[in-house]
Amino acid sequence: MTDTTKPEISPEEAEAHKAEMKAQQEEHRAKMREKEKADRGLLLVNTGDGKGKSTAAFGTVIRALGWGWKVGIVQYIKGTWKTGEKEFFKRFDDLVTMKAMGDGFTWDTQDKEQDIKSARKAWEESKTMMSSGEYGLVVLDELNIVLRNHYLSVDEVLEGLATRHVDTDVIVTGRTAPQELMDAADLVTEMTMIKHPFEAGIQAKPGIDY
Ligand code: ATP
Ligand code: MG
Repeated sequence: MTDTTKPEISPEEAEAHKAEMKAQQEEHRAKMREKEKADRGLLLVNTGDGKGKSTAAFGTVIRALGWGWKVGIVQYIKGTWKTGEKEFFKRFDDLVTMKAMGDGFTWDTQDKEQDIKSARKAWEESKTMMSSGEYGLVVLDELNIVLRNHYLSVDEVLEGLATRHVDTDVIVTGRTAPQELMDAADLVTEMTMIKHPFEAGIQAKPGIDY
């Protein structure tokens, strides 16, 4: 007896159906991949000789806070100085974790070994922040200077950045971003110096420079 509950499907039809399903599945997967790419945390680099690299990063922090994200900030090079940004972010201590490398400017400490130790400690903290998934945004302020001074290798920094949580955006600032870092980034902005008050002998000002 023939089974009348099942419609007859020719092998050709079955094959065509299978191919169509496979194409649909592939299209869906491609869309998902695109979506994942668009949603993933980005790597931003602010570099160049002009002023505004750290300022732009802190502006982005404000945007992230506006969305209620947690933000991690690690300040390399700059240490114990009182700054407007530190005073401001203290008001958001439930959302902002701010760490500083802690030894001031390198030309103040004159101790390369200590600087390398401090850089390494700050980098360990940066990696913990980036991979935790707790933070929507992590700012590594002046990390490029640490790289230029060879306190950390570009390779280990690239490796660490790659382990960031899929939802975490990272901003690296500082003059002289290495080419490999710019290659790995999604966004690179170079600040250009047209004019700076420093050239007219005007010193760094609170509110403007720190
Ligand atoms: P900012 O923190 O003001 O955004 P920045 O991050 O772009 O500056 P840095 O290289 O971190 O610049 O410089 C730190 C300090 O040096 C800041 O106080 C800044 O005003 C000052 N500065 C920046 N660019 C110049 C320049 N072209 N000449 C002299 N001083 C500068
Ligand atoms: Mg800066």
